[in-house]
Amino acid sequence: MFWESLSVILAVALVACQLRWRRRVREDAAARARREAEFRDLQARIDSVAEREKAKQETLFDSMAEGVLLLDRKNRVALINQAVEQLFGLSSDIRGMTVMEAFRFNDLQAIVNRAIKEGRAQGEELELPGLERRVLEVNAAVYLNPAGASQGTILVFHDLTRIKQLENTRKEFVANVSHELRTPLSMIKGYVETLIDGAKDDPEVAPKFLLTIQKHADRLTALIEDLLTISRLESGQIVLNLQPLDLSSLIRRVADELKDRAAKRNARFVIEAGDEIRVPADGERLHQALFNLFDNAIKYGGGNGEVRVICEISAGRVEISVRDRGPGIPPDAVERIFERFYRVDRARSREQGGTGLGLSIVKHIVQSHGGEVWARNEPGGGAAFFLTIPLSTGGAVQNSLPFRETAS
Ligand code: ADP
Repeated sequence: MFWESLSVILAVALVACQLRWRRRVREDAAARARREAEFRDLQARIDSVAEREKAKQETLFDSMAEGVLLLDRKNRVALINQAVEQLFGLSSDIRGMTVMEAFRFNDLQAIVNRAIKEGRAQGEELELPGLERRVLEVNAAVYLNPAGASQGTILVFHDLTRIKQLENTRKEFVANVSHELRTPLSMIKGYVETLIDGAKDDPEVAPKFLLTIQKHADRLTALIEDLLTISRLESGQIVLNLQPLDLSSLIRRVADELKDRAAKRNARFVIEAGDEIRVPADGERLHQALFNLFDNAIKYGGGNGEVRVICEISAGRVEISVRDRGPGIPPDAVERIFERFYRVDRARSREQGGTGLGLSIVKHIVQSHGGEVWARNEPGGGAAFFLTIPLSTGGAVQNSLPFRETAS
């Protein structure tokens, strides 16, 4: 009896132990699964943070205006940003290539070599081969690890093309201004010297010389006035005073002011404009633009003809055209006549008292009103100039607008 009871107790204890052990195993497995899930979750979160960080860095890297190129210790391309791809017009992946393999450009390789040799190469200018002149500034440096060992080379490219263009425009402008000022000045000086040397006592030549001196002094004044206007327009010093302006009466007023000058060349104005066409415009500036166009039509219109001015409304803007019956503009000059100092016939322009700045001033004034200006030759002969002025300032009516700066 005793043994029977003992074996029952032992059996029960064994079963209980087994059950506990199984529960423990199950609990352990569940805990392990929980821990594994937590670990996976943590890993996923770390990965996603790392991914996000990487994406952020790549976006930052690609949004840089400067081109950045990273070479590894073996001088192979490790990293480039989009700016480099655009600057060099790369269409395929160059990672893993050497500079020569990727760019086929000796000058760039020379900069890399110099940077490796000297530790850095600063402010190097690189002119890219190709039809269009492109100039880059390159700064290169070897990058080191904390122990001071080289890890590769970093190159930063800055596009200087626009700055170089502006620099050239400025140089050309200064050269042109000097030339334009020197010509009338040397004429004045020459005539004054001749007068001093005795011509002043010759009643035949003295008045003629004095008139010539006056003509050149007038040219100098006109040139300086135009230069000041251009300079104020480009520097934004002049602020437009936009007021409702009746274009029809402005056109008639300008034509009236030039009536006598036109008559001297047997030319006359024919105006086709409605009774009242109102636009928000700066009357003084627009007067200047129309004056220059009408004056050119008389000057270059060949004489004995008419200058036809048409003012009409179309597609939310007013279009004014000025047509003459002169020889027109040589086709290759049509695109250039709005540039500063560009003249088809320099001697002719000077003889007419021109400064070479009139159309450039017209362009600035019209563009600052939000309009456009262009020229073309008429099929039947003669030149035609067009300008447009928007009928409204585009919602927000302003009393004043600064002039926009342009390159020409
Ligand atoms: P300019 O003071 O020489 O007249 P503009 O800037 O007004 O300077 O004009 C630039 C050039 O454009 C002129 O020198 C002339 O060669 C050409 N041009 C301007 N208007 C006309 C026109 N109506 N017909 C033919 N050529 C013109």
